[in-house]
Amino acid sequence: MKSNAVIAIHGGAGTILRASMAPEVETRYLDALNRILAAGQRILADGGSALDAVEEAVRLLEDCPLFNAGHGAVFTSAGTHELDASIMDGRTLEAGAVCCVKRVRNPVLAARRVLEKSEHVLFTGEGAEAFAAAQGLEFVDPAYFHTDARYRQWQLARGEARAMLDHDGATLEAKAAANASADSLPHEPIDPNRKFGTVGAVALDAHGHLAAATSTGGITNKQVGRVGDAPLIGAGCYADDATCAVSTTGSGEMFMRMVAAYDVAAQMKYRGVSLSEASTNVVMEQLPRIDGRGGLIAVDAQGNVVLPFNTEGMYRGYARVGEAPVASIYD
Ligand code: ASP
Repeated sequence: MKSNAVIAIHGGAGTILRASMAPEVETRYLDALNRILAAGQRILADGGSALDAVEEAVRLLEDCPLFNAGHGAVFTSAGTHELDASIMDGRTLEAGAVCCVKRVRNPVLAARRVLEKSEHVLFTGEGAEAFAAAQGLEFVDPAYFHTDARYRQWQLARGEARAMLDHDGATLEAKAAANASADSLPHEPIDPNRKFGTVGAVALDAHGHLAAATSTGGITNKQVGRVGDAPLIGAGCYADDATCAVSTTGSGEMFMRMVAAYDVAAQMKYRGVSLSEASTNVVMEQLPRIDGRGGLIAVDAQGNVVLPFNTEGMYRGYARVGEAPVASIYD
């Protein structure tokens, strides 16, 4: 099958801990990205849909403890986990999302069921879980989402009685120092205290259709009930065959206020600019107007892929059918 089919994924953006970076940890991240890209790539190579490819890639990212979604999600201020996810089909403009779910193992699968089986777009909390249960999705004990690394990050954030990722330089410096000196903390390539760890995927399939999906645990120490951009169509996720598919990661409140994912598509549609120009404008010009930090991944109907970010790094990668996946972390 001739194909410009391609998938791109991200595992969050943030500040790089160059000094304490252990090469084997970097390799772990790159291996995970490459493995998940290859899984999405296989679906596209077999003629599968972009929707199936992004769902599967995000499901695998949710199952991987290195990233802040599903197993490995961050903690709320109450020491719990509240997960958000969304998915959109660029072929039909159908979308599905869930937010504040606590026991659904893979929120992206719930989002896909909402897209397919419900007349609604977004379910929250108990209603989302009831819907997921009725769909026969797998439930887990909330302890499943716990990882020691995220727990320690939460302890650090609680010490300051606020949500991590507020950009107070001095406090963050202190946090980074504490992190770098605590032997028990993993030295992730991107500083866990200055990282937006949402995951996402975008894809173009061999039939010319686009799709996007995004999933997150949110931000460390977030207030119970806080919802960010990830489950909001247009903010954290958007797909339209006529323009592009987008998944974002970053300071969710700013991405919501900028309607960031949709703005990329809207600029292409109404200004007639390229994917590259539109996404660079959103990430490098619009979001910084309100101190919005993070990045996005996007693909258009021609198979152009962009992965811009305004932080020092972003876990990211893309894989074209028939070519080796390309994964990177730094600028
Ligand atoms: N955008 C996500 C949120 O605000 C955080 C992230 O990207 O890690 O919930």
